[in-house]
Amino acid sequence: MNLGLRGKVALVTAASKGIGFGVAKVLAQEGARVIISSRNRANLDKAVSQLKDLAGSEVHGFVADLTRRADLEKLVSEVEELYGGVDILVYNTGPPKLGTFMDLSFEDWEEAVKLLLLSAVWITRLVAPKMIERGWGRLIYITSSTLRQIIPTIVLSNTVRLSIAGLVKSLAVELGPKGITANGIMQGHILTERAEQILEDLASRRGVSREEVMKEVTANIPVGRYGEPEEIGYLAAFLASDKASYINGAMILIDGGLVKATL
Ligand code: NAD
Repeated sequence: MNLGLRGKVALVTAASKGIGFGVAKVLAQEGARVIISSRNRANLDKAVSQLKDLAGSEVHGFVADLTRRADLEKLVSEVEELYGGVDILVYNTGPPKLGTFMDLSFEDWEEAVKLLLLSAVWITRLVAPKMIERGWGRLIYITSSTLRQIIPTIVLSNTVRLSIAGLVKSLAVELGPKGITANGIMQGHILTERAEQILEDLASRRGVSREEVMKEVTANIPVGRYGEPEEIGYLAAFLASDKASYINGAMILIDGGLVKATL
């Protein structure tokens, strides 16, 4: 199936590593002109050169901390200067602080609201006008399976990220008539640095080894393994394409069967 992404301008945030990098890789391999952002220049440069080697397409990297609105304003104006606008936004974030409710401070909550909610509002508000002008756009929000089933030691994700589902539905209704779709991805366990962090945290809370926790987590995933970042990329690439024109306002679970709720 030809996804028709060649030449489209795709901005993937928080993409120097992990899931964001996997998404950027698939989009670049599909021929999109990819811009990645993250906080750290050195990691970003490394990622850009890896992506260029892997995909042989146009890739740019801009430093932007998602918790700073001014950084996102600069990021979008840099992309507009380069390409005139963003066709595809894949919004991904850094992971929130781990912790149960009683582990977290007020400051942790404020930081998480910036990282997991306000950054989505800011970046969407910044890229949407050009999409509206062009009459075409794709807004894709990477969230977490915690929207469907909580993880007791990641309360910030369980709570703050839920608002993205409200944002997605609101945008789908408001911008759908203008040729723009908005959808969310809710991934389960994907093998990245963050997944390692969670394993180490659970192991130390329970006083067992990381391997033991991993075995337990994997046993609960019907397909019997963690996901790969590129597997999120394949879904994002499909949602970004014209083939997915009729998918709008959906929150899609991609978790190997982890969440056992029916809907
Ligand atoms: P990761 O730690 O491997 O990569 C995170 C990326 O975000 C890195 O490129 C990092 O530089 C960047 N980043 C961190 N803070 C940032 C900030 N303030 N501004 C800009 N960039 C920033 O994480 P991952 O596993 O790829 O996860 C991506 C997102 O998906 C996270 O929000 C995570 O909580 C969520 N998630 C991950 C999993 C999983 O199993 N890996 C499952 C569900 C949800």
